[in-house]
Amino acid sequence: MILQLKPGTSEQLAHELAERFSAFCVFDGGHFLLVTSSSQHQANPETEPYVERIQTFTDDMQLSSRRWQKQTREVIVGNSHFGNGKSTVVMAGPCSVESEQQIREISGLLVAQGLGTLRAGAFKPRTSPYTFQGMGKKGLELLMKMKQEFGLNIITEVRDSTHIDEVIEVADIVQIGAKAMYDQGILRRCGKSNRAVMIKRGFGSTLQELVQAAEFVMSAGNLRVLLCERGIRTFETKTRFTLDLCGVAWLKENCNLPVILDPSHAMGYAYGVPDLTRACTAMGVDGLLIEVHPDPAKALSDASQQLTPQQFRDLVASLQPIAQAVGRKIS
Ligand code: PEP
Ligand code: MN
Repeated sequence: MILQLKPGTSEQLAHELAERFSAFCVFDGGHFLLVTSSSQHQANPETEPYVERIQTFTDDMQLSSRRWQKQTREVIVGNSHFGNGKSTVVMAGPCSVESEQQIREISGLLVAQGLGTLRAGAFKPRTSPYTFQGMGKKGLELLMKMKQEFGLNIITEVRDSTHIDEVIEVADIVQIGAKAMYDQGILRRCGKSNRAVMIKRGFGSTLQELVQAAEFVMSAGNLRVLLCERGIRTFETKTRFTLDLCGVAWLKENCNLPVILDPSHAMGYAYGVPDLTRACTAMGVDGLLIEVHPDPAKALSDASQQLTPQQFRDLVASLQPIAQAVGRKIS
């Protein structure tokens, strides 16, 4: 249940009321809100003098529900607008930062395409401890350097809570990966930051679990959340995962957070990524996450799915008319 406090309620009073009624206190759109479990359907009568709107829910998708706020929550990061209904923001880069030369080449490629957001992992959540685990802090330093040199926004992932403050410092968008989606330490810490946060759907997670992960961040005070569909695990093994576009349609209809699609991790093979990216663009989503590497065959992680620079250029050129057909612009 969400109780919207009357205009002019002081921060101190809002916090006192939250304490008294065991609620989260969130400042949203110029109002203080008290947020409790969706199992609560009646407000304590003592709150009445302070409250101007009460909304009940059938499940714990509350702050992120269109029933609470119909309009998509726009997340602005530098010049990029996620969720304004007019743009599809292409975020691209290698799976991992591997060297200065590698990340500089890709940064130059993005700028030449008129794109403003560089993706690359420094702390990689690998499925085996014996594979490349990412450059760690050195990788973050390189990303910071690219941000300063090229003016790019950086999206990079936090793998666990051992390095979360370092990532928050460098990232304009903090990526919470599919395997970290349930990590409450990461979700709560991101909720206390003012950085935009992109949560990737776990490959065995329901849509309800995904939006509830977002609610952890939002109820802690940070409403700048993006949701990313990156493929779920099904009985099919020919492709790496199965991209759940029905799920995306559901999110667009019911949830007020911007939606990002990641065709690279879903497909797992570069040959399918351009077609899939065009299909994603045609769905009218708020952003795309695409892996591109100067020499994919030599990539230290996710080698099979990364596009070459030329494949990436061709792909971006083909996206603009598709975006236009659904009333958007690639940016
Ligand atoms: C990634 O974006 O490189 C990544 C590891 O993604 P996911 O968490 O979706 O597997
Ligand atoms: Mn990857």
